[in-house]
Amino acid sequence: MSAPLLELDAVSKKFRRPMSLGDRIAAKLGGTVVPHEVRAVDGVSLSVSHSETVGLVGESGCGKSTLGRIAAGILPPTSGVARLDGKPVMSEGRHPHKLTTRVQTVFQDPFASLNPRRRIGDAIAEGPVAHGLVDRAGSRAYVADQLSRVGLDPSYASRFPHQFSGGQRQRIAIARALAMQPDLLICDEPVASLDVSIQAQVLNLFLELRQSLNLTAIFISHDLGVVRHVSDRVAIMYLGRIVEIGPTADIYAAPKHPYTQALLSSVPRLNRRHEGRRAFKPIAGELPSPTSPPTGCHFHPRCPLAEAQCRSVAPELRPMGLTHWAACHLAVKT
Ligand code: SF4
Repeated sequence: MSAPLLELDAVSKKFRRPMSLGDRIAAKLGGTVVPHEVRAVDGVSLSVSHSETVGLVGESGCGKSTLGRIAAGILPPTSGVARLDGKPVMSEGRHPHKLTTRVQTVFQDPFASLNPRRRIGDAIAEGPVAHGLVDRAGSRAYVADQLSRVGLDPSYASRFPHQFSGGQRQRIAIARALAMQPDLLICDEPVASLDVSIQAQVLNLFLELRQSLNLTAIFISHDLGVVRHVSDRVAIMYLGRIVEIGPTADIYAAPKHPYTQALLSSVPRLNRRHEGRRAFKPIAGELPSPTSPPTGCHFHPRCPLAEAQCRSVAPELRPMGLTHWAACHLAVKT
């Protein structure tokens, strides 16, 4: 087996919460101020092989976007290491120059990532020209190729971002990322702000590009239904930890972790008789605050199966099959 392209090795990320007014008053009066840290990512290990797409799924605030930014070299980990082809993505908090072209990210809001005053042809050409992937003279043809590849007319290069729909802007964001010829593409909720029909078009585009370009990708979403058709493997995150990971077919056919089961039952589906949307169960309770996560298994306050040990002992990821792992005291192999 070849070495993975991306390796996240026991990666953690803590953020320090800014002092509130109450904290500042307490500090002035000589009281005790407890520093509040948010452990957004808590000891995550994950590898992504060449040409593989891994879906990273969890509710908003579970740490999946932070993990994506660490993998992209946008954020340094507090501890642990992210490696691309065996080399640290970040060293001493700096992004090594050569890696900047190797990992590209597509974000949820394509409008925010495009300068409204720049023609999209210039926005797409900027990075490849700056990094010597194409010279200025060849950039026009290069941009035309990138636009065609994502299903847009090359003549659109002279237009501005506001002249495009949300779905078209996301295609432009994908074209701009791929123009950098990345080894790894990180898609962070790329369809979350789009209508369902447009979501399907962008997901189909991703699938086509994945096959034709042999893409290696991390696809981040809060929606298990979205990642199902684009991922080889799926990792489920809850409060900074991966609680289940395995081949996509196994996760959907036989989820082992109660949180994965709850996420799956919260995905609306059409029933067999196509009578409309089947009733779905939203996940009970709120996501606890990451500043003071529950003891033991973080999911225990919301878990219908929780028992005494769940409140005190954090479950480790255990094998449920050859390539399927779950972190639940009660999960059993089938
Ligand atoms: Fe539920 Fe316990 Fe499993 Fe956590 S370890 S998911 S609380 S059964």
